Amino acid sequence: MTTKIRTRFAPSPTGFLHIGGARTTLYNWLFARRHKGDFVLRIEDTDEVRSTGDSVTAILDSIKWLGLNWDEGPIDEKTDRGPHSPYYQMQRVPIYRKYLDQLVREGKAYRCYCTKEELDEMRRLAQLEKRPPRYDGRCRALSDSQRSALEGQGKTFSIRFKMPADGATIVEDAIRGNVSFENKLQQDLVIWKTTDGPTYNFCCVIDDHLMEISHVTRGDEHLSNTPSQVQIYYALGWKPPIFAHLSMILGPDGSKLSKRHGATSVLEYRDQGYLPHTMRNYLALLGWSNTESQQLFTDEDLIAKFNLEGCQKSPATFDTVKLQWMNGEYIRHTPIDELIELAKPFLQKAGLLGLPGPDLKRTVALEHEKFKLLSEIPTLVEFFYKPVVLTPKAEKVLGGPGVKQVLLELAEALSAFAPFEDKALEVRIRKFCEEKGLKAGQVFHPLRAATTGRTEGPTLFLMLEIMGKETVVSRLKEAAAKLD
Ligand code: GLU
Repeated sequence: MTTKIRTRFAPSPTGFLHIGGARTTLYNWLFARRHKGDFVLRIEDTDEVRSTGDSVTAILDSIKWLGLNWDEGPIDEKTDRGPHSPYYQMQRVPIYRKYLDQLVREGKAYRCYCTKEELDEMRRLAQLEKRPPRYDGRCRALSDSQRSALEGQGKTFSIRFKMPADGATIVEDAIRGNVSFENKLQQDLVIWKTTDGPTYNFCCVIDDHLMEISHVTRGDEHLSNTPSQVQIYYALGWKPPIFAHLSMILGPDGSKLSKRHGATSVLEYRDQGYLPHTMRNYLALLGWSNTESQQLFTDEDLIAKFNLEGCQKSPATFDTVKLQWMNGEYIRHTPIDELIELAKPFLQKAGLLGLPGPDLKRTVALEHEKFKLLSEIPTLVEFFYKPVVLTPKAEKVLGGPGVKQVLLELAEALSAFAPFEDKALEVRIRKFCEEKGLKAGQVFHPLRAATTGRTEGPTLFLMLEIMGKETVVSRLKEAAAKLD
């Protein structure tokens, strides 16, 4: 019998979902979808000081926006659904306590009475002697009477997991192969805090086992925790899952991707005007490649091709230029109705919804090829709906010699002209230039500046057609009136 593929993303709600977390979510989702398995979301909120409900909401919103649906897990900040509920670690404490008691009873975990000061001193000495800073195991072999004496003095304790003193732990990693860790270099991790609560490394093992997770794909900052986690599986008599540790993401300067490199939270990318599909495609390639070096993927294609073997061990570099290029590609391929729907929050924010003026389908379509971000759309179409605001360059164009007269005569010529259509307008306006003995530029530039307030923009005659005769003529007159 083959086991069902079950993957999970297990964020700690201590901030936003950043690019690294989004990639981890995506890979787990793709792998589960590819193998018709389940994708589980679990909230690892054992750090009570730093975990917040707002972070849970932001993480869920980010994953929803990315379009990565989960089969089991939170519905909102507090409630969840699925056969392994609850999916919030702080609601699972009684479960962890049961396994903690088992480990202590079996002598596989022990009480540690060391204070923070003692631990700091241990670390300081280790650094001084150039040893890895780790717990020296001094509470491992305390006798029952020593323990009673310490507790008699009112000493509090944490619980540490007893790592094997020698040998090696092998981590089976789908990306890195078998990674071997010398046990004597690992420390006895705290699995239950002095302040009475379980820690990540402990909860994670119990949950992954009870939630029947077959593959744990996560960032490689967790690789160093994995030998301890594997030993906890063994101590509880369980089989560890297959691990896959994803390489780090670097900024363009080769250092770890951070705020310094620009936006790191997924919602910032949403607000900048990236499409969820772009993010899925781009993040899929950030550390994974397929043999054909394909760049653009439909979701079906990604699901069919994604595999853990194609994930690279070396760091991946986040490249905003490529991300923007890809977004431009997807915007170009999005039908206009859908594009307007996607751009609605941006149009709304710019106050461009519900205004009189040409159909958005026509104005947005005019520059469809140019948009790289949804957020650029309002700026490029707003002159159709709002009063003309002159850029300094446009002001200069309108201030040129004889411009006022050109505008007035053009207004007159166009007010009597029909049909007010692209090609016919071009013929008429070129003829106007001839009649007046003017070069094309002497007419086209003031015409664009007066009607749009800009010196650059969409193709002139089609733009005039869409704007409509009445607006064009009145804008020409208004601009002329201001030139007195
Ligand atoms: N809660 C951990 C984090 O947010 C995830 C650890 C894991 O995936 O095992 O970094």
